[in-house]
Amino acid sequence: MSFVTRFAPSPTGPLHLGHAYSALLAHDMARAAGGKFLLRFEDTDLERSKPEYVDQIIDDLTWLGITWDAPPLMQSDHFDDYNQSVEALIAQGLTYPCRCSRKDINAALAAPQEGAPHTVYPQTCKNRSMSERGATDALRLHMDRAMNALGGQKLSFTELGDLKKGVHVIDRDDIIQSVGDIVIGRKDIHTAAYFLASALDDINQGISHVVRGIDLFEFTQVQVLLLHLLGHKPPLYYHHKLIRDENGKRLAKRDDARAISLYRSEGISPNDIRSMTGL
Ligand code: GLU
Repeated sequence: MSFVTRFAPSPTGPLHLGHAYSALLAHDMARAAGGKFLLRFEDTDLERSKPEYVDQIIDDLTWLGITWDAPPLMQSDHFDDYNQSVEALIAQGLTYPCRCSRKDINAALAAPQEGAPHTVYPQTCKNRSMSERGATDALRLHMDRAMNALGGQKLSFTELGDLKKGVHVIDRDDIIQSVGDIVIGRKDIHTAAYFLASALDDINQGISHVVRGIDLFEFTQVQVLLLHLLGHKPPLYYHHKLIRDENGKRLAKRDDARAISLYRSEGISPNDIRSMTGL
């Protein structure tokens, strides 16, 4: 099997040490396997994504010695593709419209932030039918129905990272309780949410191995479920450790003190960054 992996930052802030580790690790794995390393900007959040962050991330990755084997994929160029998949899930009767607050929905739309706990949706709108869908309603995946659609078949994915190594069977009760009815689409800004767009692009980019932080591990099951419902075979997954600060706190984008650009301005070398992350 050929090895194709990717780094998929959301350009909503500067590249920090945690991202650098993720990108370097995935890049090293691809090069060691004689495979491919691809780049994807997850810029579906049009309010928070900024072109200057895209430029800065490209500049920082290049400085780190990372090269990619195709032009970067910009998710904002592919809204139509994602929406076709949203329509396919609607057609299967697996969605419901949700009119909960913009704040709730925005939180659910963005990629999970390192350090922020995932809130399981309290199912307020669960009994609304698609015919009641308002122009600004979000669409949620009806998780119980989505699991029922498997018709008793066991769905699983393979994790290669040491932290969670093994075959993980997707458990109905666990996915309902720990992930819940996630947002998969939103009409007013014409976009599919993070979970769906990201999983679809792993297929579109021919990714064989998804290398990313362990903070995304619990969402892998829902991405595998979505891919299955849309007739795709999931890639293999490798979730790596997170880079923490001296206090053991996970780094987040807002930790600008860890921005690679800042280290660069202080004269730190790419090799120093590698050793700081334990590579
Ligand atoms: N865009 C996500 C982030 O920046 C990563 C998604 C992924 O690697 O699957 O956290």
